[in-house]
Amino acid sequence: MTRKVLVLGEVRDGALRNVSFEAIGAAKTVAEGGEVVGVLIGEAVSALGQELIQYGADRVVVVENDKLSQYTSDGYSQALLAVIDSEKPEGLVMGHTALGKDLSPRLAGKLQSGLISDATTVEVAGGNLVFTRPIYSGKAFEKKIVTDGLVFATVRPNNIEALAKDDSRSGEVSSLSVDVKDLRAVIKEVVRKASEGVDLSEAKVVIAGGRGVKSEDGFQPLKELADVLGGAVGASRGACDAEYCDYSLQIGQTGKVVTPDLYIACGISGAIQHLAGMSNSKVIVAINKDPEANIFKVADYGIVGDLFEVVPMLTEEFKKLKVNA
Ligand code: FAD
Repeated sequence: MTRKVLVLGEVRDGALRNVSFEAIGAAKTVAEGGEVVGVLIGEAVSALGQELIQYGADRVVVVENDKLSQYTSDGYSQALLAVIDSEKPEGLVMGHTALGKDLSPRLAGKLQSGLISDATTVEVAGGNLVFTRPIYSGKAFEKKIVTDGLVFATVRPNNIEALAKDDSRSGEVSSLSVDVKDLRAVIKEVVRKASEGVDLSEAKVVIAGGRGVKSEDGFQPLKELADVLGGAVGASRGACDAEYCDYSLQIGQTGKVVTPDLYIACGISGAIQHLAGMSNSKVIVAINKDPEANIFKVADYGIVGDLFEVVPMLTEEFKKLKVNA
């Protein structure tokens, strides 16, 4: 069955987030040969429309309004509901990001539809669209199909492959005027915590530190390794609770969920709550002084040793590899 599928393009700091392109990849499967329509919401975002098309959208609908310059679930749901009303899609896909997690249940409630959240794969099997999603903090996976109504899903970043960018693709970018009703909350100013480098939830390489780093300064060698590998620094809750780093770096059940190609855990014991946020990483390297540490049970490569010796050695070796490459 072919479907028309809408995909929300998520914009941050004037650029589309990678997960938007992955959502288009998922939407292509959901559409089963039907049309994939990108949706952009915000203020002065239409210039990004062609990029969604280059990543596989057939056309793009843009809703621009000064009340949408900052994300609010109220404003965005009004805009997206207006697009849904005008386009009458059979599918809707967005990233399982902070924005997607906030917006999708509200929309599903308003649309009286089901919602498959945090999907890590989508495929057509036995004539059904089958979504896979982790449950019990990643210890098991369930497969879901939609039997009726709108196919509405959020996709976990870094899991579903985006299509290769094709600069030769072009398509229509149209605008839809939406009368955004007064918002219940208006964001006056966004004060960002200084965050350096790569976005943790979308990083291909994550170097994470635990209580074993021992201090704020103890994160410095991890930052150097992350710089060399073009990765992001993360942390266990143990390290955040000890005030070695900010909670925005926390990975785990009550922190961020990451699925990088490479996860290097430094001085992290591997508590179940931490594993919930990283155990689906493609390759896991654990560095720990304790050979019995639980983290080694999920690691592909284990290094028993002092992180303050091992991490700088790795940084030097990767530097050499980069110079010789
Ligand atoms: P520790 O358990 O203290 O481990 C430190 C490790 O460092 C040890 O294994 C030690 O051998 C090693 N080490 C020490 N020095 C060195 C060195 N020089 N070189 C190499 N290794 C060294 N935790 C999370 O991470 N994320 C969550 O989202 C999360 N949510 C939670 C939710 C709930 C409801 C609860 C109850 C707990 C949650 N926790 C979470 C906490 C979790 O249970 C653990 O307490 C926490 O993950 C431990 O952090 P850690 O591994 O850094 O510290």
